[in-house]
Amino acid sequence: MNVWVFAEETNGAPAPVALELLTKARQLGGDLSAVLLGGSGEAVAELGQYGAATVLTITPADGALPAAAAAAALAARAEAESPDVILFGLTYTDRDVAGRLSARLGRPVLSNATDIRVDDGTVVVSNEIFGGTQIVDTAVRADAPAIVIAKAKAFPAEPGGEQTPSVEAVAVPDVGHAGAGTITAVHVEASEGPKLEEAAVVVAGGRGLGAAEKFSLVEDLAAKLGAATGATRAVVDAGWVPYAKQVGQTGKTVKPNVYIACGVSGAMQHLVGMKDSGTIIAINKDPDAPIFDVADLGIVGDVHQVMPKLIEALG
Ligand SMILES: Cc1cc2nc3c(=O)[nH]c(=O)nc-3n(C[C@H](O)[C@H](O)[C@H](O)COP(=O)(O)OP(=O)(O)OC[C@H]3O[C@@H](n4cnc5c(N)ncnc54)[C@H](O)[C@@H]3O)c2cc1C
Repeated sequence: MNVWVFAEETNGAPAPVALELLTKARQLGGDLSAVLLGGSGEAVAELGQYGAATVLTITPADGALPAAAAAAALAARAEAESPDVILFGLTYTDRDVAGRLSARLGRPVLSNATDIRVDDGTVVVSNEIFGGTQIVDTAVRADAPAIVIAKAKAFPAEPGGEQTPSVEAVAVPDVGHAGAGTITAVHVEASEGPKLEEAAVVVAGGRGLGAAEKFSLVEDLAAKLGAATGATRAVVDAGWVPYAKQVGQTGKTVKPNVYIACGVSGAMQHLVGMKDSGTIIAINKDPDAPIFDVADLGIVGDVHQVMPKLIEALG
């Protein structure tokens, strides 16, 4: 099995999901290459620590939106070398490149993957449907390469198979108007504390908090625990917190060691983004709230009484 993992570089580091995919790809066996959209020595070295034997670097023109050129470069290389699988993460750039690559190679894309394996030489991709209540396995019978987009946190990122990769720069063809888009500004959202997708502990607030200003209870509890804050879509739609904090089907997928859901009902669309957390703790005044079905520990009570006590107890 010859597996390629696409990795977008930001600030000298590969996207975290690329390291998760390399970890998974090692289990598939065979030759493992990373396709790095970027090219810094630090990023190459990190990809090597996760098992990439070869790093193919793609460097689009300065300031250009990279996907069109990256897909063209990748397609030419894939046609020449016929990898069995090309793995992408569920990020904006990865999806953009995967879609364009699919069109160029005439291969299907399997998206939202939560697992990938090889059965008797056939690539089989799993993904969750109906809010994670059913799992569908899809055997890829199309010609190689299988183009697969996997969800973040589907696999843990663990260094292994460490090596110093050989590095090859891939020529970027002229893609005409398709590559004419330019990046005019980059906005980095200001945030304090750990990143939601990477935090070991997440404290999430739902509509049960009652009002925007009560989200401070979530922030105070998170500050005591060194946790990131998350929210339900109801809270985001109400404008209490920005969309970047939304956990769930149309928000982020998180897998912290501890997830504390405060005034969250546990709708299926929320659960799908956090149900794989290590220990789930729920505070809800309704003992029949669905969040208790996935919770390891539950407190039936009013968030306005329970949370201040918790914050106080944590000193
Ligand atoms: C296509 C689609 C995509 C969606 N994507 C997402 C998504 O990505 N993420 C997401 O979160 N949702 C998503 N939703 C919305 C989802 O269906 C729910 O509407 C939403 O998760 C509910 O948010 P909530 O739990 O904050 O609010 P509610 O459902 O209103 O629940 C509030 C909970 O707080 C409890 N409560 C009330 N007062 C108190 C109190 N004083 N103390 C303690 N508990 C209290 C109540 O018992 C209740 O259980 C999506 C919906 C659709 C249709």
